[in-house]
Amino acid sequence: MKKFNDRMRVERERMVNSQIAARGVEDTRVLEVMKDVPREYFVKKEYMDEAFCDAPLSIGYRQTISQPYIVAYMTEKLRIKRKDRVLEIGTGSGYQTAVLAKLAGHVYTVEIVEALGLTARKKLGKAGYTNISYSIRDGSLGWEEEAPFDAVMITAAPARMPEKIIEQLNEGGRMVVPVGTIFQQLYRITRGKEELVKEELIGVRFVPMTGEIDIDP
Ligand code: SAH
Repeated sequence: MKKFNDRMRVERERMVNSQIAARGVEDTRVLEVMKDVPREYFVKKEYMDEAFCDAPLSIGYRQTISQPYIVAYMTEKLRIKRKDRVLEIGTGSGYQTAVLAKLAGHVYTVEIVEALGLTARKKLGKAGYTNISYSIRDGSLGWEEEAPFDAVMITAAPARMPEKIIEQLNEGGRMVVPVGTIFQQLYRITRGKEELVKEELIGVRFVPMTGEIDIDP
């Protein structure tokens, strides 16, 4: 078993060096966590051989586990500190949740597909993560009861800027969100004392956020 894990560790280090550090992600905490979290544990059994590929993979229910580089890139942009309370919309496989939980104080994760949320919860529990709260619900309005948050990671794409979730950011809080329909623009929103700073990051492709209620009639 140990041998098996060591081999996987080597594969993850290779993944981080060739796909993530090579493309400019520099935050050493993020790079270390991406080497530690067993991505292979969160993909479907039939995709084990592809766990470290430079691509998203199907997790069923027409959803995907994001490409490793995108997970690292978005995580770096959130500038997570050790005591942060982080909201994640789109638990999916639970892989990104694990990465966030290793960096932050507590992660609040929301998933709309019950089967995915339950599987992720079981896996993360088994793996020993204790700083995660789970909710099965439509996350398009965030998680108001637990707000405010220091960081918000959105991994399903709303058609428009999710104003309700932005309201749940602390002063100094950061949100990374892909906005758009088929192709999306990734944004970082930072709440300042009086203003919101909106930065355009890269172009991305995510699955749509379902159940949005504040779309134009
Ligand atoms: N970050 C995850 C999943 C990305 S796929 C991973 O890497 O594994 C996006 C996820 O968002 C899917 O699991 C999808 O079911 C979920 N999702 C879509 N719309 C949602 C909504 N309105 N509220 C909560 N989760 C949603």
